[in-house]
Amino acid sequence: MSEAPSAYALAAVHLYPDVLNIYGDRGNVIALRYRCEARGIRLTVLDVSIGDPFDPEAADIVLVGGGQDREQRRIAADLVARGPALRAAIDAGLPALVVCGGFQLFGHRYVDHQGGIIPGISVFDLETRHPGPRADRCIGDVVLETPEGEVVGFENHGGRTYLAPGQAPFGRVLRGFGNNAEDGTEGARTKNAIGTYLHGSLLPKNPALTDELILLALRRRYGPDVTLAPLPDDAERAAHATAARTAERRSRARS
Ligand code: GLN
Repeated sequence: MSEAPSAYALAAVHLYPDVLNIYGDRGNVIALRYRCEARGIRLTVLDVSIGDPFDPEAADIVLVGGGQDREQRRIAADLVARGPALRAAIDAGLPALVVCGGFQLFGHRYVDHQGGIIPGISVFDLETRHPGPRADRCIGDVVLETPEGEVVGFENHGGRTYLAPGQAPFGRVLRGFGNNAEDGTEGARTKNAIGTYLHGSLLPKNPALTDELILLALRRRYGPDVTLAPLPDDAERAAHATAARTAERRSRARS
């Protein structure tokens, strides 16, 4: 197994960073860049917004953040136009991390609080429906159990997401609401694409998840033998532990 030498380079595409960046989801790009460059892996980040050209085949990972219903409507037509190319690339193994509002539009559609339909691109076999203006939002700390281990974050969404039979979740809810506050699922995962409601931003407090995304991208570009050298994670683990304790404490206070 060969560790990623400094000759390795990756290209990340950040979709709609000027529109879908609620709750600091840009922090996911910062964490990805840090954990690449600390290993000598050069990361190029291409910001792609409405009308900008972009070929998913040239990307090693795609990132999308969250946004309110208004922002989702702003980018929906542009995203739908990119849907076939994104679906084909993800089906061929392109890693992606899509958060909250972005996550919802990687499903079939999002029915907003007024019953308006915002179309999605059907990367994930799911649908999101807002239960109406009087419904409580799903807000708070989240702790998940995932194949990458425990994942922590923060959620703030009105929409409830329902996975079709056979659609894998990203994780199981240990603390928080998750997709719909009913079935214990959170997010979705198809091949190397992960959708989640977790803001925070997500990646800085979850180094194992960040490294998994980097490794998926490296192995897709440079072959299955690539490995990643460990990094000193004391600060990240401390932040993760604090978030998990906070979620536990607040959950007890509510019960
Ligand atoms: N507008 C969507 C909802 O309220 C997503 C919100 C978000 O991205 N935080 O469910």
